[in-house]
Amino acid sequence: MGLIDTKHKYWKARSEKCAAALEKKGFHAVCCADETAAREEVIRIAGQPETVGFGGSQTTRVLGLVEYFRDQGCQIFDHWVEGLSKEESSKVRRAQLMSDVFLASANALTMDGCIINLDGFGNRVSASIYGPKKIILVVSANKITNTVEEGINRARQVAAPLNYMEKERNTPCAITGECIGCQMPRKECRVLTIIEGVPKGSPDYHIVIVAKDIGF
Ligand code: SF4
Repeated sequence: MGLIDTKHKYWKARSEKCAAALEKKGFHAVCCADETAAREEVIRIAGQPETVGFGGSQTTRVLGLVEYFRDQGCQIFDHWVEGLSKEESSKVRRAQLMSDVFLASANALTMDGCIINLDGFGNRVSASIYGPKKIILVVSANKITNTVEEGINRARQVAAPLNYMEKERNTPCAITGECIGCQMPRKECRVLTIIEGVPKGSPDYHIVIVAKDIGF
């Protein structure tokens, strides 16, 4: 077996164990081999929504889902659209909370089926808990950790520094790759959530796991 096949076997095995744990907790979880399969699965699960909200997520963008749902005539609530004023951005974030379908990723999933997120404004974690009729998180297998502690550490020490590096922000972690728990006014790591089971008001909750290393 070659290196790529072995890695795929590893990601697949962890994805399947994590998906089984999520299912036990009441989520609908599915494993996909790659981005194409994940995109098809999201489109199938979403059905025909009138409105689609997007949380800050590279993974959903990599899958081209904003463009897909826009082409379908859906109203898109995406605060990453360039040129939005502060007021417009805030309006879009609030609209995400009431969308038919909310699409985002997570900073970590644990092998026993918890979802961990570290957010700045809180719109992503809010809409990932309550409000939208349907919630779909697309999460790549490199975000699966063995424990909640490892998941929180991943959110702080991997996802946050990479996010700031990507946005070319002047935070300590963007320079060194290490979170030092700074108090910079512009920091966007302010709200930490651990979802331990399907929130009671959000029964239509889907997790699509991609058995690859694609997001951060
Ligand atoms: S607390 Fe500061 S150093 Fe840590 S991830 Fe946030 S911005 Fe980076």
